[in-house]
Amino acid sequence: MTDVNPLFLLTGPEILDWLRQEDPNRLATLWQRADAVRSAHVGAMVHLRGLIEISNYCIRRCGYCGLRAPHTDLPRYRLSADEILAAARQAVALGYGTVVLQAGEDPVLTQDWIAAVVHQIKMQTPLAVTLSLGERTPAELRTWRQAGADRYLLRFETSDPELFARIHPPLGTQPCDRIALLREIQALGYETGSGIMVGIPGQTYASVAADILMFAQLDLDMIGIGPYLPHPATPLGQGQWSTPAPAGTQVPASELLVYKAVALTRLVCPEANIPSTTALATLNRQNGRELGLQRGANVVMPNLTPLAYRAMYEIYPEKACISETGTQCHRCLSGRIGRIGRVPGAGPGGRQRTPACTGSKP
Ligand code: SAH
Repeated sequence: MTDVNPLFLLTGPEILDWLRQEDPNRLATLWQRADAVRSAHVGAMVHLRGLIEISNYCIRRCGYCGLRAPHTDLPRYRLSADEILAAARQAVALGYGTVVLQAGEDPVLTQDWIAAVVHQIKMQTPLAVTLSLGERTPAELRTWRQAGADRYLLRFETSDPELFARIHPPLGTQPCDRIALLREIQALGYETGSGIMVGIPGQTYASVAADILMFAQLDLDMIGIGPYLPHPATPLGQGQWSTPAPAGTQVPASELLVYKAVALTRLVCPEANIPSTTALATLNRQNGRELGLQRGANVVMPNLTPLAYRAMYEIYPEKACISETGTQCHRCLSGRIGRIGRVPGAGPGGRQRTPACTGSKP
């Protein structure tokens, strides 16, 4: 262990102060402390998770996401089981320990079909399997866990229930409660991931501070943080559905705010696996990935979706890394990892628990 003192947790007001901090010298201490905590708790390895976007069909109408059902101009695709298995084999060939199967909320991806695909991947490869298929039923989640799925990712997007309800209409009459669903996912024995978008219209600094505390409270294993990027074919992207935050309180959807949120998350959740996200790389193609990795993150998610479908998984426009094959994406990310003195991870890269691990104050 380094000089990292795990005895002090950051309080909500301290997190809020850091989110509003503009002094480059003070911020440099935040980056250093986050990097030290990252190094002490999860080490120098950067885990590569092969991302397979298995379907862009979606029955939801989320105000922020380009895959929303009413976006009828978007061509839709769904991978075959063979295509998914081929991508999983490519993940093994490239040395990855995990694949992430992600999709819109697509009911054609049935309980049994997904269970069979998970089972095949587990039979044919040593990969850990992560699912990110939206809000699915407890029965589906249980069946997939039994079929061998190891991890589940579901971002709560914002912990502010009013803001979430505004941007994420329910399917039926019941309001969505992603926090409750995350607890069910944990109870099923999944390694559990969540996360947020930073800079949603109407999202305040205080709300992002509450999100970071929520990560710690949920004791999440994986935490993804990216900027909100407006999609012109969505209500939020067209300036609808949002109530402006009070003057001076709107959190910007900026690169800097994402770094702050990543660094603070590392301090309060020292053991979590935290990706340096593609959305962040979209804001800074030159070195956004690297800066994320140097300010608390320890994971990247190279894209293994077959190139023919890549552009159609358009959750937001101008996505980085959209035209590179899996092999090119791998080379690019491995180079970026090496150039900042880190090493590609080996094995599944699950959460490692250390005794008496709490958080750290910068
Ligand atoms: N249907 C799944 C997967 C959605 S895509 C689910 O809802 O969990 C994965 C993530 O992309 C979302 O959780 C959201 O945080 C992010 N995302 C969607 N639209 C976005 C946008 N316009 N800008 C930035 N991130 C976005």
